[in-house]
Amino acid sequence: MAVQATLNPFEIAQRQLDEAAKILGLDRGMHELLRWPMREFHVRIPVRMDDGSVRVFEGFRVQYNWARGPCKGGIRFHPEETFDTVRALAAWMTWKTAVVDLPLGGGKGGVVCNPKELSERELERLSRGYIRAIAHYIGPDIDVPAPDVYTNPQIMAWMLDEYETIMGRSAPGVITGKPLAVGGSAGRGDATARGGMYCIREACQVLGITPKGATCAIQGYGNAGQFAHILGEELLGLKVVAVSDSKGGIYNPNGLSAKEVIAHKEKTGSVVGFPGAKSITNAELLELPVDILIPAALENQITAANAGRIKAKIVAELANGPTTPEADEILFKNKVYVIPDFLCNAGGVTVSYFEQVQNAMMYYWPAEEVHEKLDRKMTAAFHAVHKMAQEHKVHNRLGAYLVAVQRVAEAVRLRGWA
Ligand code: GLU
Repeated sequence: MAVQATLNPFEIAQRQLDEAAKILGLDRGMHELLRWPMREFHVRIPVRMDDGSVRVFEGFRVQYNWARGPCKGGIRFHPEETFDTVRALAAWMTWKTAVVDLPLGGGKGGVVCNPKELSERELERLSRGYIRAIAHYIGPDIDVPAPDVYTNPQIMAWMLDEYETIMGRSAPGVITGKPLAVGGSAGRGDATARGGMYCIREACQVLGITPKGATCAIQGYGNAGQFAHILGEELLGLKVVAVSDSKGGIYNPNGLSAKEVIAHKEKTGSVVGFPGAKSITNAELLELPVDILIPAALENQITAANAGRIKAKIVAELANGPTTPEADEILFKNKVYVIPDFLCNAGGVTVSYFEQVQNAMMYYWPAEEVHEKLDRKMTAAFHAVHKMAQEHKVHNRLGAYLVAVQRVAEAVRLRGWA
């Protein structure tokens, strides 16, 4: 009987590392250290609801590895959050900060909740409660959270305020992705998508594809997906023919205008029902005959079950963990060029790092400076990964692991941990 492939993201993250460890010849102690989070927090957060009752939420913070610098990574608010998804995301943050060569480690947080069912005041109390639970274990030089799925700049502002109130001093560098008025960075809002566009531009160049007019489908219409639509049009001239959100997708082979689709979503709460477009499912979107496919939603979207039917030439992963290891093999065999998640979506954490630098200096840069510095980081990382993958004749995800794990292992070795 065939072994059922796991969809547990942390087991997937460990398997991915195992492959890289074999090629790099990591010794046992080093490999073992890099397979597990170094420190984890599991907290309960009591929240007074608007009706006067108390609900207790479950939260996590995983500090995966800090050999290269303070832990760094977002906080997700999601009803299906688990300790293992947060562990996987924290591992991927460790490889992400290393692949773009930031002086940071990796971490991640999560709260099991459905923010769509909470009032604004309940959301604020939950956000503050989460920070109260972990305040003494985070800090600008320990572990620095940021936004992720279903968290946003307003939530970062509440979290910053809670932390500074507890500590009794200003500490803007404790969290990134803040609104500009409380120490945010220009260019952070669209940074994840923008970094992905720089990667797509470079991938088109190495593959000999002209981005202008190339067709594109985007799965997920949150921060990353919406800005990918806007910047895909604006920076690369892509023709976005399909987009989707958690309620379903829309397809129009003549192209969809970002401005119009975003206005429709703002009005109705979803992209579904956009005039002139055909309704499709999230699964159908992935298999459309497009040049570029951008998964920008959640984990485990491209699996052994559908990878063989992906027709895109480039898969640019703005989501974390959208592709399983079995799917990676199939895509590689079919010559689909994957720009792996922790490279493709590293623009977010890169501008978060710029935000930390600006907070520490108390001096802020204009957007053009942020864009230019981001471009330099992303382009260098893209080519380091591309070259590594070509040299070892492996798929780009493994190439990215080889670049990142080598860097983390070097720091671990120099510190004398393994
Ligand atoms: N949550 C984003 C990510 O997965 C950004 C993390 C950060 O800015 O620290 O990369």
